[in-house]
Amino acid sequence: MASVVVSVDAELSNHRPPTERAKRRARYGWRRLLSLFETYDVPATWAVVGRLCTTEDTIAPPAAEEWFTDGATESFDRDAAAVVGERRALARDLTAPWLVDALAENPVEHDIGSHSYSHPRFTNVSRELAVADVEAATAALEGWNPDPDSFVYPFNAVAHRDVLAEAGFTCYRGTAGPDAGQESSVDRHPFHPLELVPERPKELAGWAFDRLSEAVTWTVGSSGPGLVEPELDDSGLVAVPSSLPSLYRMPVAVRSALRDAGRYPLARVATRGVDRAVERDRTIHLWFHPADFHTERDFRSLERVLEHVHRRRANGLQVETMADVAVRVRS
Ligand SMILES: [Zn+2]
Repeated sequence: MASVVVSVDAELSNHRPPTERAKRRARYGWRRLLSLFETYDVPATWAVVGRLCTTEDTIAPPAAEEWFTDGATESFDRDAAAVVGERRALARDLTAPWLVDALAENPVEHDIGSHSYSHPRFTNVSRELAVADVEAATAALEGWNPDPDSFVYPFNAVAHRDVLAEAGFTCYRGTAGPDAGQESSVDRHPFHPLELVPERPKELAGWAFDRLSEAVTWTVGSSGPGLVEPELDDSGLVAVPSSLPSLYRMPVAVRSALRDAGRYPLARVATRGVDRAVERDRTIHLWFHPADFHTERDFRSLERVLEHVHRRRANGLQVETMADVAVRVRS
């Protein structure tokens, strides 16, 4: 079956600390995505981070100090209490339950899934913490979807799959696709790809070149975005791998270079991938964050992709959520 899956990491920011700009962009991007999906009748999987669903009064207490200090290498030599205090402040800063209301009230039947509660790197936390986090995440979602099917790991760091299976999830976004490790390589990068560019010219040049190379590879590379093969894994969950690194997560320097060149590379890459999915009867899985869209041009670029998806429905293309894929694969 030819299908396209779209998943959204539904969070305001995972910056530490989050910048005002990124949060503003995320809140605006969230609503624009809803409206674009509605225009083209595209249901998506929204993996909502639990702390976003809460209000200041209902933030889940840490299950352990580890809860807020997981894997944060910068905090290893810091006073744990101070880090816990900071992380709690951060969690308060990232709540926006009204956005989940807007998602649930949207006429398109989106798949409301989970992106954990506190956004830990699951590969770095104990099983006990993973259980506590997933429980808190599911409890936070209860008012909108008491029985979520889909899970997107923070940083795409897949671990503790048995915990998800026990909690009733049916699928997760896997990294077995061609972009395996992509998110973690971005994460290891000393400079955040979205907000911070290196200050020293030499570093900036190298950094911009790397990002531009990535963009060119996606744009003109002969392989195009990968088609994926969702499959039932040994924990009983369906892994739905992604086809590309986050579609619109592109640094400002690359953005302006491409804008100057008058190109819509991401739209071209994604539409080509959609065509390949149709030709080969396969699945393509695109994903992004609400904060990844910096300019109106970025939204127009996504609109081209959604328009194309809509047109290709005449050729048998289906739009599936991750939850739909899980049902298909398990049947
Ligand atoms: Zn995330």
